[in-house]
Amino acid sequence: MSKFHSAVTRRDFMKGLGLAGAGIGTAAAVSPLYRDLDEMIGSKTAQWKRPWWVKELELEEPTTEIDWDMVERFDARYSAHSPAEVCRFVGLDEYNRVRALSNAKQDMLDNKPGSTLRDNALNIGAGTGQYMSGYKTDYVFPAAGTCCGSFSVYWTGQKGVATPESMGVPKWSGTPEENTQMVRAAMRFFGATDVSVGELNERTKKFVSTYPQGGDVKYLDNWPPPDTYIKKIVFEDVDQGYSTDTKYVIPNKPLYCITYTVPMSKDLFRTGPGSQLRSAANISRYRLRAAIDTCTKGFLTALGYQGLEEPYPCFPSQAGAVLDGLAKMGRNSNVCISPEYGSVHGYFDIITDLPMAPTHPIDAGIFRFCHTCHKCADECPAKCIDQGSEPTWDFPASMYKPEMPVDYHAPGKRLFWNDPIACQMYSNSVAGACGVCMATCTFNTNGASMIHDVVKATLAKTSLLNGFLWNADKAFGYGLVEGDEKEKFWEIGLPAYGFDTTVGSTVGGY
Ligand code: SF4
Ligand code: SF4
Repeated sequence: MSKFHSAVTRRDFMKGLGLAGAGIGTAAAVSPLYRDLDEMIGSKTAQWKRPWWVKELELEEPTTEIDWDMVERFDARYSAHSPAEVCRFVGLDEYNRVRALSNAKQDMLDNKPGSTLRDNALNIGAGTGQYMSGYKTDYVFPAAGTCCGSFSVYWTGQKGVATPESMGVPKWSGTPEENTQMVRAAMRFFGATDVSVGELNERTKKFVSTYPQGGDVKYLDNWPPPDTYIKKIVFEDVDQGYSTDTKYVIPNKPLYCITYTVPMSKDLFRTGPGSQLRSAANISRYRLRAAIDTCTKGFLTALGYQGLEEPYPCFPSQAGAVLDGLAKMGRNSNVCISPEYGSVHGYFDIITDLPMAPTHPIDAGIFRFCHTCHKCADECPAKCIDQGSEPTWDFPASMYKPEMPVDYHAPGKRLFWNDPIACQMYSNSVAGACGVCMATCTFNTNGASMIHDVVKATLAKTSLLNGFLWNADKAFGYGLVEGDEKEKFWEIGLPAYGFDTTVGSTVGGY
């Protein structure tokens, strides 16, 4: 059986059609577009998965007729997306009269369904993402009539995003519970697959990094780098967050930390260490995060609140994920595991002053399972994941090396530790880095099968079957793919982004 995405065998396929044992003639009768299954599997239509009733034509031309002698290149300034072009036909007065028929401000003040402040904020947030790459435009947001100009991403959001003040309406006011539900809906729409919330209080502030990660080897002999190279993160008695050339400032006021999940392609992670396909899956989460972060900050700004995030990590999102219920720690202290998405995903965070109802930590039997499952530690090429039977407060003596720097483990957590220097050194030795622990994790299963839900429900209740489940995982053949099988990515049809975005949808039909 192919390990690169759990493929249905031809026999299973025939059984599914109720044709096991039937001849090719029978198969052809129910599948009139193909003479046999080989032809179907090998056809372009099969690689490009279309509904069965979409028929690939042999013709060069579409069914819409074209007279190529009449076709010429078109000057798109004359398209109806150019307001000037519309006005050339209808006149400026008529154009302005029609535009005045909709009154976005009044709709917001009237709480008109579909056009409330939060609905407008969603639209504004969704639109701000398109300026991430420095794209310049004179597009006018319909709700605010605010010219966007050019945008630049920064600590507190983006310049030029409409605010309730600029739109002439009061800022958003909802209960903390409503706000958590609203932000989850908005962020899932922007691309985050799950969202949790924690209060940034005196305890959790201890997780806020003093500096984000970074540090080029040019500072090896003159450590630490100057604050102009990596800005420090500080709290100040101010109302609004801001940043300078040397610091990111978080206000001392009630704040909430939104942590969100960005899955990655489980299949591409299975292509293993050194694979650029795996690297592409890994790096994608930062690209997706850029859009989610930008849109969410635009959304919060349009509601009248702050969203703070630029350096990584500000609030280490793995901490947020575990504290606020998105995930559980894995055996590797560098990895946490989501009940819904397994081990192959990333977490990010945004700090906001929008009052929100915190979410709570979870138990799904995952960390308990890790006590007896050592698969990632066994598979780790650098052997840098703790093999102990119980988590420890301190770095385990069995892994301690005298030359280890003492300051790269943040204490105060009882974990199975990993040695990140050994991990980095191995990853640096294989272009495209490693990720074997995440790829081979027993929880890196494709989610569509109901059997996985049964398995997860079982281990959430009891650890008695852990050994059996680990063996079953091995028997199903999950793990890395080898050799040419890695290149099957180019032939199979993964979901958009390489992962299943329907997880967590409460709407039927997806
Ligand atoms: S990324 Fe690779 S080297 Fe690092 S802990 Fe995971 S398996 Fe080990
Ligand atoms: S492979 Fe096993 S021990 Fe490692 S993180 Fe996954 S479930 Fe835990």
